[in-house]
Amino acid sequence: MGKPNYLVPMSSPDINEADQQAVLEVLRTSYLSMGPKIKGFEKTVALYTGVKHALGVSSGTAGLHLCIRAADIQPGDYVITTPFSFVSSTNVLLFENAVPVFVDVDPKTGNIDPDKVRQAAADLKSGDENRANQWLPRKGAGKGGKLKGILAVDVFGQPADYGALEKIAHDNNLILIEDSCEAIGAEYKHRKAGAFGDYGVFAFYPNKQMTTGEGGLIVTNNSTAANLMSALRNQGRAPGDNWLQHTHLGYNYRLNEMSAALGLSQMQRIDDLINKRETVAQWYNKYLKEIRGIEIPYISPDTTHMSWFVYVIHIDQRFNRDRTAAKLDAAGIPVRPYFLPIHLQPYMVERFGYKEGDFPITEDLGNCSLALPFSGVMTEDQVKLVCGTLKECICN
Ligand SMILES: *Cc1c(COP(=O)(O)O)cnc(C)c1O
Repeated sequence: MGKPNYLVPMSSPDINEADQQAVLEVLRTSYLSMGPKIKGFEKTVALYTGVKHALGVSSGTAGLHLCIRAADIQPGDYVITTPFSFVSSTNVLLFENAVPVFVDVDPKTGNIDPDKVRQAAADLKSGDENRANQWLPRKGAGKGGKLKGILAVDVFGQPADYGALEKIAHDNNLILIEDSCEAIGAEYKHRKAGAFGDYGVFAFYPNKQMTTGEGGLIVTNNSTAANLMSALRNQGRAPGDNWLQHTHLGYNYRLNEMSAALGLSQMQRIDDLINKRETVAQWYNKYLKEIRGIEIPYISPDTTHMSWFVYVIHIDQRFNRDRTAAKLDAAGIPVRPYFLPIHLQPYMVERFGYKEGDFPITEDLGNCSLALPFSGVMTEDQVKLVCGTLKECICN
């Protein structure tokens, strides 16, 4: 929660009159859940992403969890994933008592390093305990788990290297899940984020590129899985079950109609929402150029379209990131260290025995990165104010 006296907000949704009307219209009907709006929203996102099925859910985390269930990931199974992410992408594995097998990331993009994924997959499948153990946590993993999948994350709006990841998944018969919760609208080699691998998930919390208040959405071309996930989000009711019949152990992961209507309305101008963020990012690129000790975000040539989620700079080691952040905060500019590595979160250290130094690239990124205030409704003057204050605050 921000101090009330910040000069600019850390993030801000982009809501217009049409969005407000869309939500009001729902409130004038009796369909507040499981009505026509979610169907329309799903169809729109499916078309936009170029996949067969889209399923609205109550959050991005809920969507990722349903993918883990649909992929039949069982207690003790291994899934290769990244420690440089928002905690959800790992937590959904823990919900099913599966074991996240972390591999370090590419230092430039912060996305999972495909060479390490390939190596980890080969070692975990080799049947050689010593080779497998190099990738497993010190404790809490159990022995002889089965490698089932890869869960990649499109960090900060830039897709992971799916050319490589899809090949590794195919060669090793692994399920590939794309956490695209930060990347709706992005493109990797002219293909839309979310459409890679077996499942993709978007999220719509108010700081994302588009919002439903709370909400998420799963995209997949797998019809059997889509049917199962549709039942699981609705308390396990399979097609043909009545309200009190539950074929599966399910959840209430439904997306309500007000949220779906807002999402549908936002989707009408999704390209505009993303373009406005691009403009703000370009202002930052321009005004930050003059400041010493700062590295602006790197965009891979494979990212044929960037969809900015946050604007994260790297502060040179010669300067003190934390002191700079504290000075900015005191000057009324909110900033965040994106991300604190997942493996160093207290519950992860306790469960798996991780230590500092286990994933050095992730830790370096976590130590030097700083997310600046960012949204599609930011003005050029606000960007100038942030950059001007940063120039004054950056310190030895
Ligand atoms: C936002 C986000 C999610 C999902 O967040 P919810 O708050 O559950 O909607 C998942 N993974 C990543 C990487 C995210 O940034």
